Amino acid sequence: MHPTSLPTAAIDRAADLIRQADGLIVAAGAGIGVDSGLPDFRGNEGFWRAYPALGQARIDFTSAASPAMFRRDPALAWGFYGHRLALYRDTVPHAGFALLQAWGEAMPHGVHVFTSNVDGQFQKAGFDPDRVHECHGSIHHLQCLAPCSDAVWSADEFSPHVDAAACRLLNAPPRCPHCGRMARPNILMFGDGEWIEHRSARQAARLERWLQQVQRPLVIELGAGTAIPSVRHFGGTILRRGGRLVRINPREAEVPTARDAGIAAGALDGLLAIAARLRHYT
Ligand SMILES: [Zn+2]
Repeated sequence: MHPTSLPTAAIDRAADLIRQADGLIVAAGAGIGVDSGLPDFRGNEGFWRAYPALGQARIDFTSAASPAMFRRDPALAWGFYGHRLALYRDTVPHAGFALLQAWGEAMPHGVHVFTSNVDGQFQKAGFDPDRVHECHGSIHHLQCLAPCSDAVWSADEFSPHVDAAACRLLNAPPRCPHCGRMARPNILMFGDGEWIEHRSARQAARLERWLQQVQRPLVIELGAGTAIPSVRHFGGTILRRGGRLVRINPREAEVPTARDAGIAAGALDGLLAIAARLRHYT
């Protein structure tokens, strides 16, 4: 879709909201990554297209992404997460990330990110790591599978070798430096009572402290459908504090009030259309 085919009124309103805000909250779900070439795990069909071996075994996303799978079939669980870790390390964030960063940094209080994505793409795009809250954790950090302690450490030392066709890890999985047992990603999985959440909790506290200084917060929400409600829920709390919302979503772009802007588009198309409108002001 060409940006100029998007509804002008919503684009104009989004540009106005960006010029009026004193702090930007980027609230992002999985849909923001599609324009960077990342797979969409929406439904079994999309998941199994990305991981055909799991489709043949009829293993759905909620089973593959679980501590139980790390215990039952470690090579498969680490095949899945190792493949994703390598993919996210190799991915170049699309141009929309730089637009969001530029708009936010032009505001008096700057920009903060809230995301359910575990892929580290905001940090990779150059966002300040101290201004990113990853509410479901990060694939770039590890913890003990047991867990024997609440330690969380960087995954940088681990280079996964994955047979992508079979979705199996070929080299040794990462180990806990404290007890020597297997490590797992520091991500909130399905059926997960063992996620070590202090890293994410510290990020949440930093975001809350920052929000207390912001008088006119603007949420730009991208790629966050109603199926995974955490990102939408967070945006809702900002609106109740007097903030405004720009929602960019190809399927579910409705917004709560006429003062907000709903843009039915993919993340990059929507952001490019707003950028084109903002250039008229400068
Ligand atoms: Zn351990």
